[in-house]
Amino acid sequence: MGGVRVVVPQELAEGERRVAVVPDTTARLIAAGCSVAVQAGAGLGAFVADDDLAARGAEIGTNRSALLGSADVVLSVQPLGLDDVEALRAGTVTLSFLQPWVHGDVIRAMAGRSVTAFSLDLVPRISRAQSMDALSSQALVAGYRAVIVAAEFAPRMFPLFMTAAGTVPPAKVLVLGAGVAGLQAIATARRLGAVVSAYDVRAASADEVSSLGATFLDLRLETQEGAGGYARVQSEDFLSEQRRVLVQHVGAADVVITTAAVPGRPAPRLVTAEMVHAMRPGSVIVDLGAEGGGNCELTRAGETVDVGGVSIVGLRGAPSALPAHASALYARNVANLLTLMVNGGEFAPDWDDEIVAGCCVTREGQVLQS
Ligand code: NAD
Repeated sequence: MGGVRVVVPQELAEGERRVAVVPDTTARLIAAGCSVAVQAGAGLGAFVADDDLAARGAEIGTNRSALLGSADVVLSVQPLGLDDVEALRAGTVTLSFLQPWVHGDVIRAMAGRSVTAFSLDLVPRISRAQSMDALSSQALVAGYRAVIVAAEFAPRMFPLFMTAAGTVPPAKVLVLGAGVAGLQAIATARRLGAVVSAYDVRAASADEVSSLGATFLDLRLETQEGAGGYARVQSEDFLSEQRRVLVQHVGAADVVITTAAVPGRPAPRLVTAEMVHAMRPGSVIVDLGAEGGGNCELTRAGETVDVGGVSIVGLRGAPSALPAHASALYARNVANLLTLMVNGGEFAPDWDDEIVAGCCVTREGQVLQS
C-alpha cells in the first residue's frame, strides 16, 4: 500500500451530488504512490459505483469518522463540516472548495487542529495551474446548464426554422458576464441556434465573445479590470450607468443569462425590477449569480419566480445538476493539485511554488488567508 492515505468522504451538503474521486483518478493517485479509501456510497449521486472505485484499487469504508481519522489527505467538493474536522488528526491535509469569506468557522477549526487546508477556490489562474482549475471546470458545466435550463423554461425554440408553416425566428439570448461560465453559455446557446449578444467589463472579453460568433455589446463604459484576470469591484455609479444602458438590450432579449461575479463580493446588480417589467411575457432570466445574492434584483436563489410572465430562475449548485461530468472534471482537478504536492508517495509540497502557496488557507495552526 502507498504512503499518503487519501480519504474521500460522502458529501453531506444538501443538493450536492458531486464526488471528489472517480475510478480514473483513483488509479492515478495510486500510481502516484497514494492509497485511496472512499466512504461507501459517496459516488452514488454522480453515478460512480463503489465497485468501480474498488476495481481501480480503492478501499471502501463505512465508518465516516474512522475513515477521516485515518486520513493523511481528505478530498472533498464542499469543505468538511465542524464535526468532521474534529475527527481529523493533527497534520491532516484537506483539499476542497473553501472560501475564506464564507467558511471562517471551519477554517479557524482547521487551524485549531493543525490541519493544512487547500482551497480549489484560490488556485492561481496561471497557465501551469490550468489542469487544477476547478473554478473553470465547474463554471463550464454551469454555463452549459444555464442555457439548457433557459431552453426548458422558454416557451419558444432557439433555432431559426423555415418551414411550410412559416418562419420561426431564432431566440435572442443576452449573456451578461463573459468569464468561463458566460463564454460556455454563449457557445451552448449558439450551438442551439440562438442569436447571441454579450457584455463583460473586462477588455479581453470583446474578442472572446466575437470568436464564439456572438455580438459584443459596446456599452461605451470604462473597463473594470482587477488583479489576476478578474473584474475589479465596481462603484455604484458605474453599475447604475451600466443598468441605464442595458435597459434596451434586456428588454429586447428572449433569454437573459447572467454570470457576472467579482470574487469574494456580492454579485453585481445588473438587472433591476424595472428592467424585468419591461421584458416581454414568456422571456426567461437564468441567474447564475443567485448564490452570490443575484445579478437580478428579483432573483431568489434556488427558486423560479414568475414576474408578469417573465421566469426568473435563481440557479443554485448548477454543476451539481450534471454530477457525472462535473465530478469527472473536479476529481481530475483535485488529483492534479494533490499530485503536484506528492513525491514518491510522500506529501512533500514545495511551499515556494506559487500554486501551493496561493491556495493554502491554513498551515501549522495559522490561518493564512481570511
Ligand atoms: P468570475 O466568475 O469571477 O466572473 C464572471 C465574469 O463576470 C467575469 O468575466 C467578470 O469580468 C464579469 N463581471 C464582473 N462584473 C461585471 C459587470 N458589472 N458586468 C458584466 N460582467 C461583469 O470570473 P471567471 O469566469 O472565473 O474568470 C475570470 C477571468 O479569469 C477570465 O478572464 C478568464 O478568462 C480568466 N481565466 C484565466 C485562466 C488561466 O489563465 N488559467 C483560467 C480561468 C479563467
